[in-house]
Amino acid sequence: MGETARTVRTTCPYCGTGCGVKARVAPDGSVSIEGDPDHPANFGRLCVKGAALGETLGIEGRLLHPEIGGRRASWDEALDLVAARFAATIAEHGPDSVALYLSGQILTEDYYIANKLMKGFIGTANIDTNSRLCMASSVAGHKRAFGTDTVPNAYEDLEKADLVVLVGSNLAWCHPILFQRLSAAKADRPGLTVVTVDPRRTATSEISDLHLGLAPGSDVALFAGLLRHLEANGRRDADFVGRHTSGLDAALAAAEPWTVAAVATTTGLDEAAVAHFYALFAAIERVVTVYSQGVNQSSAGTDKVNAILNCHLLTGRIGREGSGPFSVTGQPNAMGGREVGGLANQLACHMEIADPAHRALVQAFWQAPRMAERPGLKAVELFEAVAQGRVKAVWIMGTNPVDSLPDADAVRTALAACPFVVVSDVMRTTDTTALAHVLLPAQAWSEKDGTVTNSERRISRQRAFRAPPGEARPDWWALAAVARRLGFGAAFSHESAAEIFAEHAALSGRENGGTRDFDISALAGIDRAGYDALAPFQWPWRAGEAATAEAKRFFANGRFYTSDGRARLVPTPFRAPAATVSEAFPFVLNTGRVRDQWHTMTRTGVAPRLSQHIAEPYVELAPEDAGALGIAPAALVSVTSPRGLIVARALVTERQRRGSVFVPIHWTDQFAGNARVDALVAPVTDPLSGQPELKASVARVAPW
Ligand code: SF4
Repeated sequence: MGETARTVRTTCPYCGTGCGVKARVAPDGSVSIEGDPDHPANFGRLCVKGAALGETLGIEGRLLHPEIGGRRASWDEALDLVAARFAATIAEHGPDSVALYLSGQILTEDYYIANKLMKGFIGTANIDTNSRLCMASSVAGHKRAFGTDTVPNAYEDLEKADLVVLVGSNLAWCHPILFQRLSAAKADRPGLTVVTVDPRRTATSEISDLHLGLAPGSDVALFAGLLRHLEANGRRDADFVGRHTSGLDAALAAAEPWTVAAVATTTGLDEAAVAHFYALFAAIERVVTVYSQGVNQSSAGTDKVNAILNCHLLTGRIGREGSGPFSVTGQPNAMGGREVGGLANQLACHMEIADPAHRALVQAFWQAPRMAERPGLKAVELFEAVAQGRVKAVWIMGTNPVDSLPDADAVRTALAACPFVVVSDVMRTTDTTALAHVLLPAQAWSEKDGTVTNSERRISRQRAFRAPPGEARPDWWALAAVARRLGFGAAFSHESAAEIFAEHAALSGRENGGTRDFDISALAGIDRAGYDALAPFQWPWRAGEAATAEAKRFFANGRFYTSDGRARLVPTPFRAPAATVSEAFPFVLNTGRVRDQWHTMTRTGVAPRLSQHIAEPYVELAPEDAGALGIAPAALVSVTSPRGLIVARALVTERQRRGSVFVPIHWTDQFAGNARVDALVAPVTDPLSGQPELKASVARVAPW
């Protein structure tokens, strides 16, 4: 009998929607992709990026073997060198002289081993991730309000709400299947009102009943004004606020200046539009506020998050069906990284590195010899420390910071001067791999096993369905191999992703984490077969609960994870973006994604049909500005900031506000000459979250 095709269920590796995918592998090895009708995130739908996954599986351009200084090396030789150089650096300069920089693309099991090695065994928290660029402000805002980094809602709340407010979120392009679910709900139930809050009109605005094209960075004023309006118009849920919150008076005092007129002045909106939005929010009980990078990527990102959370807490609209604030993450596993403590200020299982009791608990569980005792360097600080020579050895995994971090040219200069740079990647040639002393070939989507967590706290398996090419290995395997060479063998003897997941689940138990929100301890004893069969599930899923448990919402009981069990309303004084426009730099420069590309295009760039939507980088600007500058549609223009210059084609559109321009983040020198927009962005960050201000730099535009 001949071979037959087999079908493997896995999860899309792109956005934080986390869609289920069925990969059908034919006997000849060809792969066809379709949406998994049984996955609760997408019910069979896929966007064009997900649908094109089968076209991204070729090995052209792949890194197939370890390299040292550009020559092929064996894994043993490369790992020996990494361990020796890290050990020597630590011995001479201390644990804080080394760092790891990870990615929201890697899997939870990779993240777990990396954090265990650094925070428990090497003894430094200098381990951060490109998720810092994605949702760190939401993490900080959640922790201030709830005591934990807890996303309260589920996707179905978008379909059950009567008002959905989308703030700084181009859901149509950045979370296309969530947008499809919302659009379908609105088509079924035209009374579902949608408001978009975004300086640009985007594809998402096309379904909105009201679009608020506010001035960049003015969100805090809008939501502080909303808080004031809700209170003044009797929308406080007195029972909920009285029993379950604190901080109301201070939050209201900070909001007091924000009359509708003051909000209109600061946001640049019509008073009537502001008043209309406030009236909708006050009148409609079931409200979901979705927010994303337009909120998070800001020097006031944490305050923006809390300004939104305040409005939901005042009205008690949280933890209920069809109601709540909802942070949607950009990357496929930003949430999984948060669960294992993937940020420099976190510990595993939503515990805090700054909390001695949490450190003691994790140390005992890991039998760790040298726990980090304080938070480490956040992404932007980490590369500044490389530039200053304080970090002398860095291992970068699954990300391309030479293109994606702000002040990207400075990152390139820093890495070029760094004594020891290791890069684990799927692709041989990126702007970051070009600076590596050691290259380690990583397994890609379709080749590796593990788990990811989507924006509604749903953990899903990524499953291998093809043999890895060359000598590619899982990232956790390379990390554990270095850990063993550093003398930590007993704690890093894992032989599979399943073993790592079981350990992570055990650490999440109540006996370890007390009353923490993250709890998947029911899976602590999971074996290889159970892991292979693991169906998507939302946490928490506690020991003793039925295997079918679904925990759709947090905070339905009004109990939060602060020391007194109450949610905190937080005063959010307004701060404008750090950079101000001037005669020399008269435009606000915004950056973001396009629908069919992903990050620096190492995967999507190889599928020709994904370039049919938008084929090249562009500069979106308003017709009035284009006219004043003598720029014709599709002409080449330069965009210059105090840090550099890029060249791209003008997209003249009324969607753009006057005085602002938008440039997509994806195109690197590899795909288009001189269009690395993050080289123009200043390394300004939110003081609490460390998230960079990627949406409000300053620039000038001129014909090229
Ligand atoms: Fe993948 Fe996101 Fe598209 Fe779903 S919406 S198929 S997760 S890129």
